[in-house]
Amino acid sequence: MAVEMPDRVRVAGLVYRVEVVSRGEESGLSSGFACVDHGRLRIACDQDVQPQRRRLSVIHELLHVLEHRAGCDLGESMVCMLACLLFAVLRDNPGLVAWLQDEEG
Ligand SMILES: [Zn+2]
Repeated sequence: MAVEMPDRVRVAGLVYRVEVVSRGEESGLSSGFACVDHGRLRIACDQDVQPQRRRLSVIHELLHVLEHRAGCDLGESMVCMLACLLFAVLRDNPGLVAWLQDEEG
């Protein structure tokens, strides 16, 4: 059963909307697969990219949110590398993800 992409992601007290959009002036997308607008608290993903690529793009944009919230600048190449590594760790370790989500203590 396919899991729907969440339409909101909470990051350190702020809720970012996550939307799938078509390319155009209003989308905010330029050359990438996704983008983040910190003022509008919005992550926009290109509707034409494959689901696997979209997942990686959301992780990538979330890292931009984290660097924005932390007040640092990791640089695009570092964000790309960390997004790929984090995505791989999360995908390869569902038991870890389930354990992190456990509310039992
Ligand atoms: Zn980026």
